[in-house]
Amino acid sequence: MRVGISHLGNISVMIKAWSQRLGGGLILPPPNSQRTLSLGVKYSPEGLCLPFKLTLGNLIEACELGADTLVITGGDGICRLGYYAKTQEKILRDLGYNFEIINLSLSQQRVWGLLKLSKRLSNNASWFRVISALRFGITKQIAVDKIERLVQKVRAVELVKGTANRLYAKAIEAIDNADDYNTLKKVQIDYTDQLNHVARDTQAKPPIVGIIGEFYVTLEPFANQNVESELGKLGVEVRRRTFISAWAKFSFFFNYLGLNEKSKIHKAARPYLKRDIGGDGWETVGEKVLHAREYDGLIHLAPFTCMPETVAQNIMPSTKENIPVLTILCDEQMNRTGMLTRLEAFVDLLKSKRRAGNNTQ
Ligand code: SF4
Repeated sequence: MRVGISHLGNISVMIKAWSQRLGGGLILPPPNSQRTLSLGVKYSPEGLCLPFKLTLGNLIEACELGADTLVITGGDGICRLGYYAKTQEKILRDLGYNFEIINLSLSQQRVWGLLKLSKRLSNNASWFRVISALRFGITKQIAVDKIERLVQKVRAVELVKGTANRLYAKAIEAIDNADDYNTLKKVQIDYTDQLNHVARDTQAKPPIVGIIGEFYVTLEPFANQNVESELGKLGVEVRRRTFISAWAKFSFFFNYLGLNEKSKIHKAARPYLKRDIGGDGWETVGEKVLHAREYDGLIHLAPFTCMPETVAQNIMPSTKENIPVLTILCDEQMNRTGMLTRLEAFVDLLKSKRRAGNNTQ
């Protein structure tokens, strides 16, 4: 079985570890690129959202590399995610690819669906092997995400811009290559230490910007034109709630135990939006309310034509909790120069607000 998947941020580290422990057979398409996007755009209905187009591009590239089984993710929410699997399957079959499909509807099946999928992909390996593969994959993802959280802080204050990004790329490679828990732990300690020792401006008090919005575009740097790294270059510290390891821990385990990581966010959103509107729209409104006092500003990442984020974008200005919000619509027409200019203007605004606040104290 040669299994093709789509990319999502740094999730490939977890999936590779999981697949290797199950005996391989993974066809990882090349990282997202202009070609991936062009393929997705060419074969998708025009009005569909960017995550659909990019993941379709990934699946086409996986088929080109010989994948005979495709994992297509879907959901049971009230946005287009519910149609992803069927629509992508139809497009790929119309293109002439021959494959078996595994529809991984994580929102319905969660850990049980993933374990059944592992069993199937590993030719019925023992449950011990299946569970230990999943555990090792998630442990790697936790390591990657911890390093990434540190990188978000260091980028803002490093003296030589780009140092944290270079260390991050090396850390991902080292974590990817780690074959056992001991090596993984050593790698994590080593890169944490290196990042903590990056030469920095000790006087700097960087503005803090929260990244909110749709799950895929907040996690996938190609989809958001590497917005976090660009903010780091402008001396901004980025905070983000959404990380794959946190999502996996709650979706696969803690939600089963009745713990809902989003209940605080939903409660904060309720005066303005009373129910789920699909995707991450409810959380976007709640995060604005929650972070209004903690951060200097928010970047709201929304795929163009995404209904939940469009609703959230229109509700946010009416909340009494006030914080500057810059909405960036992500699609194939996104202009990099235009985005950088808007980011620079936004960061200038935050810095001048801070100065004005300090002067009135
Ligand atoms: S949340 Fe928005 S971008 Fe994401 S799948 Fe749904 S409609 Fe598309």
